[in-house]
Amino acid sequence: MQPIRPLWNSLLLFIVPIIIGQLLAPWQSTQMAYHLLQQKVTEIKMATEERNHELDIALSSQLAKFDFNCGANDMALLRDPRFYSTHIRLQGLELASGKSCSSLGLGIPLIHELNHDELPASKYGLTATTARFNTEQEVVAYARVGDNLAYWVLDNSWSHQLIQHSCTNCFYLEFTQRHQGMAPTLFPRGDRSIKTENSNYSQSFLDQRQLIKQTVWAGKALKEYALQQVKRYGLWIGIAVGCLLNAIYWLLRSYRRSLKGLLQTGLEHREFIPFYQPVVDTRSHQVVGFEALLRWQRGSELIPPNTFIDYAEEQQLILPMTEQLLQQVINDLPLLAPEQWVSVNVVAAHIEQPLLRTLLSDCHHPAPTRLTFELTERKPILDIQAATREITLLQQLGYHFKLDDFGTGYGGFAYLQSLGIRQIKIDKMFVDTIGTHDLKRSVLDAIIAFGRKSGMEMIAEGVETQEQADYLHQQGVYLIQGYVFGKPMSLTELADWQQEWQLQYPQSA
Ligand code: C2E
Ligand code: CA
Ligand code: CA
Repeated sequence: MQPIRPLWNSLLLFIVPIIIGQLLAPWQSTQMAYHLLQQKVTEIKMATEERNHELDIALSSQLAKFDFNCGANDMALLRDPRFYSTHIRLQGLELASGKSCSSLGLGIPLIHELNHDELPASKYGLTATTARFNTEQEVVAYARVGDNLAYWVLDNSWSHQLIQHSCTNCFYLEFTQRHQGMAPTLFPRGDRSIKTENSNYSQSFLDQRQLIKQTVWAGKALKEYALQQVKRYGLWIGIAVGCLLNAIYWLLRSYRRSLKGLLQTGLEHREFIPFYQPVVDTRSHQVVGFEALLRWQRGSELIPPNTFIDYAEEQQLILPMTEQLLQQVINDLPLLAPEQWVSVNVVAAHIEQPLLRTLLSDCHHPAPTRLTFELTERKPILDIQAATREITLLQQLGYHFKLDDFGTGYGGFAYLQSLGIRQIKIDKMFVDTIGTHDLKRSVLDAIIAFGRKSGMEMIAEGVETQEQADYLHQQGVYLIQGYVFGKPMSLTELADWQQEWQLQYPQSA
């Protein structure tokens, strides 16, 4: 089941934004419908302006060239494709002489129907054709030159196309033509039934010349179209958000699965716990103390420190880890015999800055006689002055320090001198030479000789055999830590181990 969960999560992260998008669509659709109406009005405004501009140029240049006699020049002008444009369906002249001609040839009765006397006397004007045989009325622009009349029947197919564009039968457009001294004429475009709907809505505007009022109506059909649009956008946005969330989810997951992420999660879950390894005094067989060794408890898995400690140090995670470990050690101290100490490993950063001091101060300086610290000489201390100051301050509070892995690293003797440390831990590397002809054997003897002479307290670690323990005892190294007596154990295992130890060595209690 476990590996399937991320897939479920991933699927949910993908599907949920899509569902939310679809559920929210009805709320957004009204707004979308208003937006689409607004957009349509803007489209119509722009198209009207563009058309008027084109007509202005065509009409005035044509007018200046007419002879007003329906002769060859006038006919050529009426049929000139430059003027006979997409916006002009038909154009013609009505002369004072009663003669008429048009781009179709002879004057057409449609225009005769225009009552000349009713036309306003202004030079330029707009009027409309009469609706016949159920045809639509059309806009007619005219100009008077003396008693002659030039007219242009405007092509309005652009408005039909525009009104149906992208959403068919969703808009109803009404041009209201205002004539001076005449009743307005209506030019309907689109689905007229929209105007009679109950919940319809509209927007009106006037053209530049304030002669034509245009009103765009929308209703149910646009709302439905808007809902479909919002659902469509919602689907794409949902898919995009779903993909984004999935990308973030898998990135975070892979980050958390990376060692750093895993360690951080481990810290959040307080998975770092101490194991205790006994230190035995071979003179009395008394268990004098323990070294607290870090273990990473991940579910049923127990991870030893060498797999992550260097990386944790590199990533500065060792500081919160030690803090977690120290707090548990402080909690565990009352469960151990009062004369037994516990030694905690620290890194240089703890004492190059007042980190350990702050940590102990935050815990109200617990048990200075029972809590000791090990500082390895395997890794160099960069700021020896700061380290000396911190160690001195902590020593003044009663805490003790041991120099771990003595002889294996950087500045063993120098550290002892400047840091004022009085305890050393002899590394397993040297202990292993006991009973062998290894050259390092002489180093072990030298270390022991140095320790005895300078009055250092010595702990030998990694002692695995009785032979090694006996040799060290003979050499005056009595404090032994190693598998020969006990491996690092959890607190519960340690309680059982202590009981058995006391049965074996009753005098040690
Ligand atoms: P160390 O401080 O030198 O710890 C002694 C290591 O030797 C421990 O390994 C212990 O389990 C192992 N050991 C003890 N007796 C024997 C023995 O007789 N035979 C063998 N083969 N091994 C023995 P562990 O627990 O795996 O720790 C390894 C290292 O991880 C430690 O070496 C120490 O450098 C580091 N470490 C452990 N806990 C902490 C911690 O809390 N903080 C820091 N900074 N480092 C830690
Ligand atoms: Ca140690
Ligand atoms: Ca060591």
